[in-house]
Amino acid sequence: MKTHQYDVVVVGAGGAGLMAALYASQRARTAVISKLYPTRSHTGAAQGGIGAALGNMEEDHPEWHTYDTVKGSDYLGDQDAIEFMCYQAPDIVYELEHMGLPFSRTPEGLIAQRPFGGHTNNITGKPVRRACYAADRTGHMILQTLYQQGIKHGLTFYDEFQMLDLIMVNGKAAGVVALEIATGEIHIFHAKAVILATGGWGRVWEITSNAFTLTGDGAAIVLRKGLPLEDMEFYQFHPTGIYKLGILITEGVRGEGGVLINDKGERFMERYAPTVKDLASRDVVSRAIYIEIREGRGINGQRYVYLDVRPETVNKYAAIDGRTRPDGSPYVVTAEELLAKLPDIIDFCRTYLGIDPVTEPIPVQPTAHYAMGGIPTNIKAEVLADEKGTVVPGLYAAGETACVSVHGANRLGTNSLLDIVVFGKQAGIHAAEYAEGADFEPLPDDAADFARAQLEAILNSQGSERIADIATEMKRVMMDHVGVFRTAEGMQQALDKIRELKARFKYIHIDDRGKTFNTELLSAWELGNLLDLAEVTTISALARTESRGAHSREDYPKRDDENWLKHTLAWMHPDGQVELRYKPVVITKYQPKERVY
Ligand SMILES: Cc1cc2nc3c(=O)[nH]c(=O)nc-3n(C[C@H](O)[C@H](O)[C@H](O)COP(=O)(O)OP(=O)(O)OC[C@H]3O[C@@H](n4cnc5c(N)ncnc54)[C@H](O)[C@@H]3O)c2cc1C
Repeated sequence: MKTHQYDVVVVGAGGAGLMAALYASQRARTAVISKLYPTRSHTGAAQGGIGAALGNMEEDHPEWHTYDTVKGSDYLGDQDAIEFMCYQAPDIVYELEHMGLPFSRTPEGLIAQRPFGGHTNNITGKPVRRACYAADRTGHMILQTLYQQGIKHGLTFYDEFQMLDLIMVNGKAAGVVALEIATGEIHIFHAKAVILATGGWGRVWEITSNAFTLTGDGAAIVLRKGLPLEDMEFYQFHPTGIYKLGILITEGVRGEGGVLINDKGERFMERYAPTVKDLASRDVVSRAIYIEIREGRGINGQRYVYLDVRPETVNKYAAIDGRTRPDGSPYVVTAEELLAKLPDIIDFCRTYLGIDPVTEPIPVQPTAHYAMGGIPTNIKAEVLADEKGTVVPGLYAAGETACVSVHGANRLGTNSLLDIVVFGKQAGIHAAEYAEGADFEPLPDDAADFARAQLEAILNSQGSERIADIATEMKRVMMDHVGVFRTAEGMQQALDKIRELKARFKYIHIDDRGKTFNTELLSAWELGNLLDLAEVTTISALARTESRGAHSREDYPKRDDENWLKHTLAWMHPDGQVELRYKPVVITKYQPKERVY
């Protein structure tokens, strides 16, 4: 076993982790550990854009961005945090630009912007161009830019090291236990401050846009340390995943004028969101697609609809909507223009579907996409231990694994890339500041025991359960019953199933007993994380007897501000019992209203 010592240890090398590390390393000895080689992090898969009211192409204001985010969150987002993020947005986008991020440009050379769901001109209610983009590879560019900055500034990376446990001493974070994937060796990283930036857990669901590695390790570890997770019932389904595969087709396609069409050839979003239509917020569009499918208007009666971005369709509906270019001329696109703006999307469709979106519509269905909930934090990215806001000294979280909460019950597109850089930066600054004034806690002798015991339980199990079987059953039941629409009965079925699967998980059997790159062992351990997160999600969702944002209950179809304008906190006790408590939403300027798009 090797032991290392750093002032600050960042776990995760996606956008949040890299931004945190860049800032922490300015003042503190910092190391980044990541189970993936950094540039393989899911941030690199983000397509459509990062939201900031630059106003480069039309009038826009951080205050409009703030209001849209509050409204998009279905009033569950904390308004102080949302305001902070939206006002930081322009500066942080320019900061990325100055680091060298190759944004797409307007003819005048400014950062180009496109419309995205839920982002509006607050006076007209019409979509506003707020998403700053680099073609349809915005996340890729952010990740590469931040990583290159990391190399330039000499950041210390431990690539392909998987965190298995968090070390807590006297109620403070004191380091992490990680496995070196190449050798199977356990390492201890002794630290004054730990930043968790481990990303989401979309692999809980069957149809998902998330990479295989998004198994919620950081969130599950925090839960096992006796700390709560916030708002786990709010999980976003993106409306447009490739049928059956779940691979994401960015909302930017609709931003460029693509429309959703049902089996009757209708542009059905006109009925569900008369003003912004295909650019309503994601929860609204996902539900509309589900209803169309359920009422038999899926294409050929199947479980998908079409996303149509053929130039003739785009131009027809742009004319109907009266859409114009920034100079006031009518909005007309050509195939060449689409190819330039959406190269990866067109490539994905050609590769995975064998269809060309320039001449054929794309079959899509909602796909599990984004965790609004996660490790509770405040604006400084400090992790919170309870409903009173008690800070866990030395522990920070940022990015998708954290819940600040800026997304509330539903995240707007482009706001996650913004969240990861804004709060990654906060985490880096505040963790380094904390480390400057703190001493190392003494390392306990048994620091690695819990991590080891978990792996040994898997290696020594005498059972014959297989990872793939348990995973498949979990994903299916979560997709069917804790997905876009929910009922008490369905969720109870899901919960019973998850508990059965957790019992069976104790008898899991793996074939690889080796030390070198034992990814089977790690997949089994990750499945344990997914099961815990699925259980907490379902219990939090069962308790919330209302519909809000992405949590849509057929048995409680209305939002209930009187009883449920509050955040859920869920603890998992050592005996496996889940306890729920609640805390108020921070409301500063915007009183809850009915959401109309
Ligand atoms: C296909 C797709 C498209 C998207 N498009 C957009 C978009 O256009 N705009 C937008 O705003 N948002 C978008 N999102 C959402 C956004 O990209 C993510 O929420 C965001 O990038 C998450 O960043 P992160 O830094 O928190 O985590 P990630 O980028 O997921 O990184 C997680 C990091 O944690 C590490 N890690 C995890 N577990 C461990 C462990 N146990 N030990 C060590 N390291 C660990 C991983 O190695 C990785 O480096 C998209 C998401 C997807 C899936």
